[in-house]
Amino acid sequence: MSSPDLTAAGFSLEPSADVLEMRDWVHDFARDVIRPAAAEWDEREETPWPIIEQAAKIGLYSLDFFATQWMDPAGLGMVVAFEELFWGDAGIGLALAGTGLAAVAVASNGTPEQMGEWLPQMFGSPGDVKLGAFCSSEPDAGSDVAAIRTSAVYDQAKDEWLLNGVKTWATNGGIADVHVIVAAVDPRLGSRGQASFIVPPGTPGLSQGQKFRKHGIRASHTAEVILDNVRVPGRCLVGGKDRLDARLARIAEGGSSGEQSAMRTFEKSRPSVAAMAVGIARAAAEYATEYSTQRHQFGRPIGQNQAIAFMLADMHASVDAARLLTWRAAWMARHGTKFGRAEGSMSKLVAGETAVRVTEQAIQILGGNGYTRDYPVERWHRDAKIFTIFEGTSEIQRMIIGRAVTGLDVR
Ligand SMILES: Cc1cc2nc3c(=O)[nH]c(=O)nc-3n(C[C@H](O)[C@H](O)[C@H](O)COP(=O)(O)OP(=O)(O)OC[C@H]3O[C@@H](n4cnc5c(N)ncnc54)[C@H](O)[C@@H]3O)c2cc1C
Repeated sequence: MSSPDLTAAGFSLEPSADVLEMRDWVHDFARDVIRPAAAEWDEREETPWPIIEQAAKIGLYSLDFFATQWMDPAGLGMVVAFEELFWGDAGIGLALAGTGLAAVAVASNGTPEQMGEWLPQMFGSPGDVKLGAFCSSEPDAGSDVAAIRTSAVYDQAKDEWLLNGVKTWATNGGIADVHVIVAAVDPRLGSRGQASFIVPPGTPGLSQGQKFRKHGIRASHTAEVILDNVRVPGRCLVGGKDRLDARLARIAEGGSSGEQSAMRTFEKSRPSVAAMAVGIARAAAEYATEYSTQRHQFGRPIGQNQAIAFMLADMHASVDAARLLTWRAAWMARHGTKFGRAEGSMSKLVAGETAVRVTEQAIQILGGNGYTRDYPVERWHRDAKIFTIFEGTSEIQRMIIGRAVTGLDVR
């Protein structure tokens, strides 16, 4: 086991001039539009449609923006954008970024025709914005993705797929126009027998179940999605039937199945999710630092106490460490460098845990004020917690890293 040979591939984390310009543009939107609205939408616990519209109007909520950042040659566009958005607010940030998860599921595994048909429909257009939802989790299949029970049965006569099951925890679930559903084509094969299906807008049989009332990221809609005899055309199988049949045939012959599609989506999206957590952590570190220079006790700024300054030192150091892991993983993903030690999972694990710890330290530095809703750090702390849970819990990330570094079947 050795560290990845980054130098051989021209490893560099220097953002391009385009990325730096984009960062400042997104930052201005986060500072001027998202932050001032954050407390209100957290309290309302509703999708912030007017903010999504505003973002669409300037081209920030658009397929073009996401595609450009995703294609950044250094791999840094998306992570830089997400850090700024989530620095503004995580709930609104996720309301803007949630569609990206569904888009990535289609972009990573879909055919060019599927990308051309469905990605624009996930975003809509200014004045008529739309959302996408990626639905993998189920009541009995959270961390254990292989346990997915939602079934997909092929109706050859009609060239249609019949989907039945219950999805849970779906970001934008039920309010999205396009849903991407992970379902079991052959449940006996666990995750190797799964595939993703696009459910077009207005398809009968798909409905929203309960909407969850959450601890944090409350401006982001999270709900169950019920699939009751949902019929989708054959062309909605992500990647196409030929590819699925070839994969199932390889498995039947005892060969390798390759990575199954949901796992591939998670792997690619992990550094992006890590970047969101970095954004929250940075917001908290900056806010607490500023506060520590303004608040006086015992006749001096509280930041002059080593106890506070050392805490700030740890906070800033760990935010930078989390960002570097995130950028490294994003660079590796873009350059097709093998994640030999689960570097994507490392970024998500460290960034998520950092966000929780740093936002908690920020509350401590603000004292009583930090514990109230008059100051943003208590909201940031609530928001940060999701990053140790979704897109694979911290325990699951450790399991993946543990397997990668030991080569053992860690359970
Ligand atoms: C706000 C929110 C938004 C979400 N958005 C989406 C979405 O858009 N699409 C989607 O598909 N899903 C989404 N999820 C689901 C999310 O990915 C799952 O909640 C997560 O994978 C954990 O699954 P679970 O909640 O069933 O927990 P469980 O799997 O039941 O885990 C419970 C606890 O047991 C631990 N655990 C489980 N297995 C092991 C093991 N083998 N070893 C050690 N510890 C273990 C976990 O780490 C955790 O601490 C979202 C969840 C939330 C809360």
